[in-house]
Amino acid sequence: MIKHIGIIGAGVAGLHFGLLLRQHGVAATIITDRNPDEIAGMRLLNTVAHHYITLDRERSLGVYHWPVEEYGYSHHHHVFNLPQPLKFSGAFTAMSRGVDYRIYLPRLMDDFTARGGKIEYRAIGADDLAKLAARFDLIVVGTGRGPFGQMFEPVEEHSPFTRPQRALCVGLYTGVRATDPPGVTISVSPGQGELIDIPMLSFTGKVHALLMENVPGGELEELARLRYDDDPKKFRATLLAKLEKHHPAVYARIDGARFDLQRPQDLLQGGVVPTVRRTSVELGDGKLAIAVGDVHSVLDPVMGQGANIASYSAFVLGEEIVKAHVFDRLFCERVDRRREERVLGAQRWTNMMISPPSEDLLGLIGAMSQNQALADEFTENFNYPERQWARLASPPRIRHWIAEATARRGAAQLATA
Ligand SMILES: Cc1cc2nc3c(=O)[nH]c(=O)nc-3n(C[C@H](O)[C@H](O)[C@H](O)COP(=O)(O)OP(=O)(O)OC[C@H]3O[C@@H](n4cnc5c(N)ncnc54)[C@H](O)[C@@H]3O)c2cc1C
Repeated sequence: MIKHIGIIGAGVAGLHFGLLLRQHGVAATIITDRNPDEIAGMRLLNTVAHHYITLDRERSLGVYHWPVEEYGYSHHHHVFNLPQPLKFSGAFTAMSRGVDYRIYLPRLMDDFTARGGKIEYRAIGADDLAKLAARFDLIVVGTGRGPFGQMFEPVEEHSPFTRPQRALCVGLYTGVRATDPPGVTISVSPGQGELIDIPMLSFTGKVHALLMENVPGGELEELARLRYDDDPKKFRATLLAKLEKHHPAVYARIDGARFDLQRPQDLLQGGVVPTVRRTSVELGDGKLAIAVGDVHSVLDPVMGQGANIASYSAFVLGEEIVKAHVFDRLFCERVDRRREERVLGAQRWTNMMISPPSEDLLGLIGAMSQNQALADEFTENFNYPERQWARLASPPRIRHWIAEATARRGAAQLATA
């Protein structure tokens, strides 16, 4: 069977998916609303770090353009801003890396067309779907914007929030010193929110993404509304004062004289309502549309999972398409079953981390600060959110994890004594 797949959207989901199809000789056309130059010129879209499991997929696609030796990082540094600050680090077994998506996506669009993929530039509306369905064997929807969010119904059971749980203020900044060893810093100001500091490659070279996840109603929330363009000096002074009070470990690495947004457009403010949606709809004449990426599951960015699982889901879907001869309901069900554990694992774990912490979670944090192997496993599991969730899903699981790690450390100490 000669297959031709239509893909709406050229985000990481659409592109990793399209590139995988081309690798297997499947005809793929992406229809998207922005060309590479337009993407490069946009305001900050997000601040995405790819964990090594996603970098492995880039390698397998032949789109691993930014080597970790030059741009990557090896650790997560955790800081809790308590009267007696709590600090510990976890190591990955292989490096992760952050590249500004306004550089990343245009490069992969070029890769896709160089490998025989076609891209058509226009915005798709609900009315266009029937015509599109007639051209392709299957429509893959890789955007939740416009009509597409409504097209796929939310799954209430997995979508516990009706509003954002964090007021986001994220920018790309100069004047922030990197950590040693190179890593992402996850700084928590209890009751006020988190700051995720990510080393990132952008248009002027290496900068730092400061993703401030502010608790609504808290002392940091105003950052999500403070306008940079109206008064850059005031914006910087307000931000620095809040960093000094709430995230002092990151503040200590800032050179006040050089600290500024890389460029005025490198700031994004807003919020995400974490939502899981149903994944397939019938378009008539037996044709189906299937969702991949954020339109399937959109998460709060605090644990850096959205793009990583979008890429994973794109691969699952692509591999199933390569094997399949029929694209019907059963096909969609099988794809969903294969990707479900990781997609839901990421969503549930992330939602746990933006909810008030349980005693057991606080116990785990304390245990990680005393047990390197436990901190390393927590860090490594950013690659495998389903494993993280298998450790965290209920109080007995958390307690079992701590007990197991404590026993392992005790045995190791005995062996070396
Ligand atoms: C501040 C922030 C930080 C983040 N950090 C991380 C991180 O560290 N790690 C991580 O894994 N994830 C992170 N994420 C999440 C990540 O950005 C998303 O999960 C990911 O980019 C989603 O990719 P996608 O391909 O599903 O959708 P999108 O990137 O939204 O792509 C949609 C595509 O569709 C096109 N399009 C839109 N409407 C139409 C239309 N009507 N017709 C045709 N085309 C259309 C768009 O132009 C675009 O090409 C972060 C998000 C934010 C906001």
